[in-house]
Amino acid sequence: MPVLVQSLSLLGAMQAATVALMLWLGVRSDASRAVRSLHLRASALAVEAVGYAALAFQGYLPHDVLLLGGNAFNLLAQAMSVIALRMLLNVPLRWRETIAVGVLGWAGVSWFAVVQPDYPSRVLWGSVAIGCFLLLNIDALLHDRRGRWSRARYALLWIFMLSLLLLVWRNGVMWLSPTPLGSVLVPSPVNVFWVLLSGMQSLFYGLGFLLLYNELLQHELHAMARVDSLTGVPNRLALEERYAGMLPAPGAAHAPFCLLLLDVDHFKNVNDRFGHDCGDKALRALTRRVRDVLRGSDMVGRLGGEEFIVLAPDLHWGAGQALAERIRAAVASEPVLIDGYELPLTVSVGVAEAEPYERDMSTTLRRADKALYVAKHGGRNRVEVAPHYRGSPT
Ligand code: GH3
Ligand code: MG
Ligand code: MG
Repeated sequence: MPVLVQSLSLLGAMQAATVALMLWLGVRSDASRAVRSLHLRASALAVEAVGYAALAFQGYLPHDVLLLGGNAFNLLAQAMSVIALRMLLNVPLRWRETIAVGVLGWAGVSWFAVVQPDYPSRVLWGSVAIGCFLLLNIDALLHDRRGRWSRARYALLWIFMLSLLLLVWRNGVMWLSPTPLGSVLVPSPVNVFWVLLSGMQSLFYGLGFLLLYNELLQHELHAMARVDSLTGVPNRLALEERYAGMLPAPGAAHAPFCLLLLDVDHFKNVNDRFGHDCGDKALRALTRRVRDVLRGSDMVGRLGGEEFIVLAPDLHWGAGQALAERIRAAVASEPVLIDGYELPLTVSVGVAEAEPYERDMSTTLRRADKALYVAKHGGRNRVEVAPHYRGSPT
């Protein structure tokens, strides 16, 4: 079946333009890095569509203009894609390398197109440039520091590797062929497959990019839903999940851990005397002070209002009481300095060691709250421990 390379190029142009439109329209516009990167990727596809269209219309318009213009558009599209991916993954953009590859690539391709026409050398030069862009993309995926390799990351890695293979295959066939091709428009199998597969590759890459964007967004939302916006420490949901994570697996031995409930003393007075803004800043200063006392494995989070929880693994109630005492002393040690005011802050703390039968945070929290009540009624700026089956504190 005779296949016109021009028709395939036109198909590639339409494909790239459609995916570009999808990416532009499908995402709510805002100034976030992820959305900007997606829009850059969409623009790259639009530029790529112009490059394919230039190829499709060769023979209708001046040859050199279309050749130089088409290659410029294709290389520009690849460079924009590199920046878009690196922006999305929040890795160094490597502007200089990307621009150098694009400019050198285009200069070489133009040389072998106009000054010293040589089709296989032109293809080789262009392929090396595109190969460098692909390596910059692979490097971005390898430097994504989010740890776990997600499906989208694997999918993109495969797309880039196969694209590299496609480049090697095209050049191999071209250089080994006894009858050298004179142009990409010659309807030979290598040209037909090249144009068809590179058009599909841009479609897959567009969709892979969207998949990665979606995944990063979910990741960000997941993290945002677990942070207290005022203090930046974990919120109640994050604390509950951490508590569940500290429970022993079924059949495993119970490892002791403590929940400390902190409540700022007379905090209403701070707001009344210094204003709500100062109160907010005092809560931030307080979390910093508590954090400084904790071990790496402890977690402080905000339960709500002026109440905080510390989850301390591998501590029985006696050690939990000592930790609470260190926190209390650190907070009371000196006033916090807010907007030129010296605010004396103290906290009362209720400590509860998790009982082996307690399966969620609220049950341990109830007992810590009772101990906190005792601390408040005992005069505040105090630590009290909830009774525990291992033996009640005296
Ligand atoms: P107590 O020693 O009995 O705990 O006295 P208190 O004044 O701390 O207790 P109370 O529960 O009556 O008041 C808590 C106050 O904390 C009330 C509210 O104005 C303040 N508060 C709660 N959340 C915030 C917040 O996000 N920012 C500020 N600035 N204040 C808050
Ligand atoms: Mg309170
Ligand atoms: Mg209070």
